[in-house]
Amino acid sequence: MTHENSRELYDRALSVLPGGVNSSVRATMPYPFFVEDGDGAHVVDADGNRYLDYVMGYGPLLYGHDLPDSVEAAIQSHASAGPMYGAPTEVEVELAEFVARHVPSVEMLRFVNSGTEATVSAVRLARAYTGRDKIVVMQGGYHGAQESTLVEGDPEGAVPSSPGIPDSFAEHTIPVPFNDTDTVADVFEAHGDDIAAVLTEPMLGNMGVVMPVDGFHESLRDLCDEYGSLLIFDEVITGFRVGGLGCAQSEFGVTPDLTTLGKIVGGGFPVGAVGGRAEIVEHLTPGGDVFQSGTFSGHPVTMAAGLETLRYAAENDVYDHVNGLGEQLRAGITDILEERAPEYTVVGTGSIFKTIFTREGRGGEDRCEAGCRQRTDCPNYDACPKTGADVAAAETNRWERVFWQEMKERGIFLTANQYEAQFVSYAHTEADVQRTLDAYQETL
Ligand code: PLP
Repeated sequence: MTHENSRELYDRALSVLPGGVNSSVRATMPYPFFVEDGDGAHVVDADGNRYLDYVMGYGPLLYGHDLPDSVEAAIQSHASAGPMYGAPTEVEVELAEFVARHVPSVEMLRFVNSGTEATVSAVRLARAYTGRDKIVVMQGGYHGAQESTLVEGDPEGAVPSSPGIPDSFAEHTIPVPFNDTDTVADVFEAHGDDIAAVLTEPMLGNMGVVMPVDGFHESLRDLCDEYGSLLIFDEVITGFRVGGLGCAQSEFGVTPDLTTLGKIVGGGFPVGAVGGRAEIVEHLTPGGDVFQSGTFSGHPVTMAAGLETLRYAAENDVYDHVNGLGEQLRAGITDILEERAPEYTVVGTGSIFKTIFTREGRGGEDRCEAGCRQRTDCPNYDACPKTGADVAAAETNRWERVFWQEMKERGIFLTANQYEAQFVSYAHTEADVQRTLDAYQETL
């Protein structure tokens, strides 16, 4: 493979875009390949190299790079009709109705333009609704580029994780370990009356993928109810992927008060949404007094792409297909790891998968069940990552980078660091899975 055109583009990009990119994760080492075309489950770079894609835009692309005809037609028709007006349209009502019909927690929602905006609005709503300031977040959880959640620390204290954020933001945020019910209960005992909300991804999707242990979500629900705090599920990654049209909350059987959505609900276009019980969401302006606004919010092209994406999923075997292939991939990688590198493990569920290159891994005696839910009776229970810190402590990024590079040279495009999840799309086939497993085998 040659990468000369990408290298030249990167050189040009470096002088006008910080780090040569518009989102940090894209700056793969030594330089990213620049994409010219998407084609089914593949992307083609500026040098004509073709890669089987498991990054899938970091999650939004349920169908890969070829959209179903109905989705494409809806996008074209709304783009040529406008493309936007600054006045409401029918299609945003239809998408809102669809989401409210399928997602257990959502009676009413507001569309915004990114997952970040959605979580900003959710936190603001929760604070206004409860009249409290503190939020509890999971160590290693990610909720976009917002000041209140870009923090590091523990229940004893948090500091901003980026320069440019005043310490006062972090003062109101309490990071706790994911899956650690006892610590969350202690935090509520100490601060319960000041906690506006617990904000968590149903499964950590930006920390190498960490699955919830049995009962964790239920304990969050109970604590929030006991103390009058809101439970917010950030389903920007899991929404309309894990648990199908009901999202992860239906799969895990716990209904939050507020839900944030993004990625798939925009059908590949910029989107976010915050939804939940009407009596909470109605506090947003103009009906309520919690400020929210956006020039591009509810953009007709995005709404049309999202609506037809979800309608197509409702009428076809989309989730069976992607979940089945995800299962095959995780099982196949588990077999290869067992033989080649038993200290590593593969985690995920449905169409999400991630290999954890931990040196303190599971020991190799007993194989992990594909798509495991961290049952406490599992022989590998102790060795499996439970918290974001477990993944970070493994310091596996060096391995991940070497692995990523080798897989890329074999024509497989994976996420390039230990934290980002990977996704199977409707365009992937069993033959693609086999090809991927062959590449894993060779590379490992
Ligand atoms: N929340 C979660 C769980 C995410 O994974 C992301 C982005 O990856 C966000 C929020 C932020 O979404 P966006 O990048 O659209 O602002």
